[in-house]
Amino acid sequence: MDTNADPVLDDDSGEFRTAAHRAVDWMADYLDNVGKYPVLSRSKPGEIAAAFADDAPREGRALEELLVEFEEKILPGVTHWNHPAFFAYFAITGSRAGVVGEMLSAALNLNGMLWKTSPAVTELEMTVLEWLRKAMGLPDGLFGIINDTASINSYLALAAAREATGFNIRELGMTGRELPQMRVYCSDQSHSSIEKAALALGFGARGVRKILADEAFRMDVSALNHAIEEDIAAGVRPVAVSCTVGTTSTASVDPVAEIAAITRRHGIWLHVDGAYAGPATIHPRFRWIWNGIEHADSIVVNPHKWLFTPVDCSVLYTKRPDMLKETFSLVPDYLKTSESEVINYMDYGLQLGRRFRALKLWLVLSHYGTARLGDVIASHVDLAEGLARHITATSGYELAAPQSFSVVVFRKVVKRADGDVDEDASERANEALMIAINESGRAFVSQTRLRGKYVLRVAIGNGATTHEHVDRLKEFIR
Ligand SMILES: *Cc1c(COP(=O)(O)O)cnc(C)c1O
Repeated sequence: MDTNADPVLDDDSGEFRTAAHRAVDWMADYLDNVGKYPVLSRSKPGEIAAAFADDAPREGRALEELLVEFEEKILPGVTHWNHPAFFAYFAITGSRAGVVGEMLSAALNLNGMLWKTSPAVTELEMTVLEWLRKAMGLPDGLFGIINDTASINSYLALAAAREATGFNIRELGMTGRELPQMRVYCSDQSHSSIEKAALALGFGARGVRKILADEAFRMDVSALNHAIEEDIAAGVRPVAVSCTVGTTSTASVDPVAEIAAITRRHGIWLHVDGAYAGPATIHPRFRWIWNGIEHADSIVVNPHKWLFTPVDCSVLYTKRPDMLKETFSLVPDYLKTSESEVINYMDYGLQLGRRFRALKLWLVLSHYGTARLGDVIASHVDLAEGLARHITATSGYELAAPQSFSVVVFRKVVKRADGDVDEDASERANEALMIAINESGRAFVSQTRLRGKYVLRVAIGNGATTHEHVDRLKEFIR
C-alpha cells in the first residue's frame, strides 16, 4: 500500500456501481408497488429523528448497509406522494422518465449560472421551455426560466413589477424617501405565496388588497375595478394584479381577459398564477383558461405539480425579461464573461447557481409525448367529474364548490330536526370522515375552509391513478 497517497473520497466506482444498481432495482420495485404502502406516514413526531445517533459517524459505512438503513429507518417516515390514492393538497407527481433525469442530473452535478458554465443547461432550458410554451398554447415571444417553486417565481415576477413602476427601487431603495403606498391585488382565493412575495418585497401586508371572490370562487372583476379606482383616487400606486387560473382550494379560474382589460387601462403589471392548472393546457380541452393571456406580463406553471416532473420544477414565463434583468442583474468581476449573444440565467433572478432541471423536463416531454401527457391529465379530470357526480347523488353530502379540473371539494351535511344545517356537527362529521379516510391508509385527502365552512378536498394528479383508487373514496362517501 502506498502510504503517501493523498486521500481521495472514492477509490473508484466499484461500490457505487453495485449500490446504484441496487438502488435502481429498489426504485423500480418501489414505483411498481407504491400502492401497497399506507399513503400517509404513520410515524409519530420525533420517531424518525430518534432512530439516528447524536453524531455523524467518524468512520464511513458501506453504501449497501446504508441502503438497508434507508428502508428500515427512513421509509416509515415517508408519506407516499407517489401513491395513486394520494389526493391531498396537489399531488406532486413524478414519473419514471423524470427519475432518470434526476439521476443523470445528479451525476453531472452542473451549475448553469452562466451559459459557459455548461451551455447545455442554458440551451436545453430554453429549448424545452419553448416546447412547453407551444404545447400549452401560450403566445409567442415569452422568455422562460425554471426555478424551484411557484413561490419563488411569483416573487421574481412581482419584483420585476415593482421595478416596472419607474420608482427605481433598485437604485434608490424604499426607505428614506417619499413613496406612495404600493399595492398588489389578488383574490381571497389566491395562493399564500403572492402575499408572502409582497411581504418580502417591502409592500407590507397593507400592500396587498384581497378582492372578494364571487359565488364560484373567481375574482370579482367589478370589485377589483372598484378597489383600484378607489386606491388611485387615494394616492395609492397599483403595482400588479395577480390572478389565478386553478386556485388552491377549489381550482376556480379567474377571468383573465376581463382582468386584463383593467390592468391595461391603468398600466398595471398582470401576473397569472397557473401553478397547478397551467400544465393541463397541454390538452386542448383546457386551453380556455388562457383567454386573455396575451396581456399577461408574467405567468407561472408548475410541471412538478401536474406534468409528471419530479420536484422541483416551476416555470416562469414573461414578456418583460428586460425588467427581470433590470431588477436582478449584478455581475461581479469574477463572473464577467465574454459571450454577449447568450443568456446567462443568473441575470434573471435571485439565485446564482442553478441546477440542471431542464433535463428531467426534457425526458418527461420526450418520453411520454404531449398527446399522452394530455390524455392522462384529461383522465384525471374525468375521474374528478365522476366523483363529483357520485357526491351529488349521495344524500347527506354536497359539493362545496363547483367541480373544476381535477379538484373536488365537498362535505357531509348534518341537519338539525328543523331541517337547517347544523354547522358545528357538520364540521365534526367532516373532520371524522377525513380522519377515517386518512387513517385507513387507503387514500389521503386534505381539508380547506370555504366561507368559514370546513370542507374536504380531493385533487387527482398521479400518473398511476385509476377509477379503482377514486372508488376507495366512494366507499367512505355513502
Ligand atoms: C401550489 C401552488 C403554489 C405554490 O407552489 P410552490 O411551487 O410549492 O411554491 C402557488 N400557486 C398555486 C395556484 C398553487 O397551486
